[in-house]
Amino acid sequence: MINVTKTFLPPIEEYTVQLQRAWDNQWLTNRGELVLELEEKVRDYLSVSNIILTNNGTVPLQIALKLLGGQGEIITTPFSYVATTAAIVWENCTPVFVDINPEYLSIDETKIEAAITDKTTAILATHVFGNPCNIEAIEAIAKKHQLYVIYDAAHAFGVQYKGKSIFDYGTISTCSFHATKLYHTGEGGAMFANDSQLQAKLFYSHNFGHDGPLAFHGLGINGKMSELQAALGLTVLPYMKTILDERRKVVDFYNVNLDFSNIQALKIRENTDWNYSYYPIIFENEEQLLQTQKDLNEANIFPRRYFYPSLNTIEYVKWNAMPISESIASRVLCLPLYVGLERKDLDKISEIINNKVC
Ligand SMILES: *Cc1c(COP(=O)(O)O)cnc(C)c1O
Repeated sequence: MINVTKTFLPPIEEYTVQLQRAWDNQWLTNRGELVLELEEKVRDYLSVSNIILTNNGTVPLQIALKLLGGQGEIITTPFSYVATTAAIVWENCTPVFVDINPEYLSIDETKIEAAITDKTTAILATHVFGNPCNIEAIEAIAKKHQLYVIYDAAHAFGVQYKGKSIFDYGTISTCSFHATKLYHTGEGGAMFANDSQLQAKLFYSHNFGHDGPLAFHGLGINGKMSELQAALGLTVLPYMKTILDERRKVVDFYNVNLDFSNIQALKIRENTDWNYSYYPIIFENEEQLLQTQKDLNEANIFPRRYFYPSLNTIEYVKWNAMPISESIASRVLCLPLYVGLERKDLDKISEIINNKVC
């Protein structure tokens, strides 16, 4: 069976070497040696100034919204994983959707200003599929209207924009290290901020607000990564070059072998070193998508409809028409993309798709 992704698993012997350290330390969480080491190694790998590892990629979104959202209106994208919207609602903020750019698939920055009201506190945008939002435009709007910018950068591990880590942009950026993501710790994530006061707030927020064992800075939650997660992270990190190289080969194959006369590929923003995290294709209509999906499924190939449905249509948010997002969501399919995907399977996938749409 060929799925949209396959978790990269390093040799288990290498994982047990790391686990042994936790056993030797008899220390499984609360920012032990392994978490501290992984933080340093990921910080170096990404060339970011600051990183806080977390237990997943959703809690950092909640922490960011708790600190910056003020239970106000959050301008956000309808084309993302549901966690983006759910975190807003969960933190008692109100999502205000702005439609997406039909080529880059991230929030359409030209439509943001019209959605700003006196209740708006922040913009929460997703670098969807690791493709950067229009960062400069969003920054300018945020500055003009004194809004915070939170980037859900769950897909963007290793992406560089204009020569800097993508996580360096925005008031706060968050990432996910879920097993389905490019770099993973089973479950896990990270959050990033440039401002040192905000870093301190993020830090205590992810550890119950602790200021030492007996005092508290303020409200906090448990967002800590465990030593067991960090052990896996330390084992996977040395394979990043392999992971990126192998994924690039798959992306190159699709780019060369798919017939794009009737399907649209993701347009990567200029000045981006991309991470080959997803391979979405957009059909002309939903029928073509469903037919192709059926044919692929019959060949035991299971792409995924990332992201369907458009998040403005889920039942717990106020609906506003987002015609581009709704249309794309109904027509987008993410193709299998992972380390170890074989040439014969790639041939089959492209053959089925090309036969269907041409
Ligand atoms: C995966 C994902 C998340 C959530 O991350 P978890 O680690 O699963 O909590 C948030 N946003 C987006 C866009 C994602 O794809």
